Amino acid sequence: MKENSKVNFETKCVHAGISEYEFGPVVPPIYQTSTFKFESVEHGASLFAGEKKGYTYTRMLNPTIQAMEDAIAQLEGGHKALGCGSGMAAIHTVFASLTQAGDHVVCSTAVYGPTTTLLNTIMKKYGVETTFVDTSNLDEVKKAVKPNTKVLYVETPGNPTLSISNLEEIYKIAKQQKANLVVDNTFMSPALQNPIAFGADIVLHSLTKFLNGHADVVGGIVVVKDEATYQHFRKTLNQLGGVIDPFNSFLVHRGIKTLWLRMQKHCENALVIAEWLEKHSLVKSISYPGLKSHPQYELGLKQHRGHGGMITIELAGGLEAGKIMMNSVKLFQLAVSLGGVESLIQHPASMTHFSMGKEARLAGGITDGLVRISVGIENVNDLISDLESALEEVRKVNQV
Ligand SMILES: *Cc1c(COP(=O)(O)O)cnc(C)c1O
Repeated sequence: MKENSKVNFETKCVHAGISEYEFGPVVPPIYQTSTFKFESVEHGASLFAGEKKGYTYTRMLNPTIQAMEDAIAQLEGGHKALGCGSGMAAIHTVFASLTQAGDHVVCSTAVYGPTTTLLNTIMKKYGVETTFVDTSNLDEVKKAVKPNTKVLYVETPGNPTLSISNLEEIYKIAKQQKANLVVDNTFMSPALQNPIAFGADIVLHSLTKFLNGHADVVGGIVVVKDEATYQHFRKTLNQLGGVIDPFNSFLVHRGIKTLWLRMQKHCENALVIAEWLEKHSLVKSISYPGLKSHPQYELGLKQHRGHGGMITIELAGGLEAGKIMMNSVKLFQLAVSLGGVESLIQHPASMTHFSMGKEARLAGGITDGLVRISVGIENVNDLISDLESALEEVRKVNQV
């Protein structure tokens, strides 16, 4: 589809990024090739000089990858996008492109764990300092900004608290400082939130999650707003080498066709489950942006077209209760990651963060009873029955 901002989002999901190919296929062919033949030395030279359009080498650009990139750039309302080998490769490409030794970053405390680690280890080693603040509190953001701040990095809703940060206001703070506002939009997907509409300079995703949606690809993407930034980022990505491959790009592009449909169902199911969990006596607290009890519910209504498929609860009974719940679910699968059609459940204190020890966990906001749920597109009654019987097991053991 030629870029056409007039058509609606569902239509874009189906048609964006698809152009003309030899023999007229309706989906982009998988150009599973590492390199491209030149017709002559002159042709090769003109391609490398950027005078002619075409492809030279798949790390630089490939038609299947580009089709997927164009689709996501359109869905986010950006100029162009860069496909990366994982969400982390996308995040690394962004920081490597935007910062140098002596620069400063302001980052949400509620971000994906490995993002924090990247900033605290590799970026720090390269001379980039980071201040972590609760970006849902604008005063904290204002206080953290310094004359050498180059990037304000926000994830909203945040991980795993699902706190919501005000993108429009944070953008104003970023611009006063001539810094870039970078938003990790993985939890919402472009179907539910478009950070560029609120000013964001850069939007990135882990494609592994909602965009692909089928738990069979690891990938990432960076969306930019202008050609100069695109060229600069493309050079960085070519040098770092963290690119995605044609087959995974094909799968992601295929997944995107049902993004709107899937997101509707994720939101619908998650709201029903959140309302049910909120009333459950073994749930001490719950965070879901679609519940009126969420502290930034009103802000969420302005920023999202739906509240997403992620729910975080605090279970009564702490570590033991969490373990029992994890071992009792049958339909929900015990796994990290999120955003696929299948429902997943995770208990950081007994699983991903167990080896850290309780004190370190608490310092990072991981309480013993914290359970994160990625609600899939199954029948919601089946999902609730599964949670109900798992919580019944927790109750039995707690009473003994
Ligand atoms: C998973 C995730 C990432 C990292 O993506 P990978 O594809 O696993 O490298 C980054 N941000 C968020 C919010 C994520 O959920």
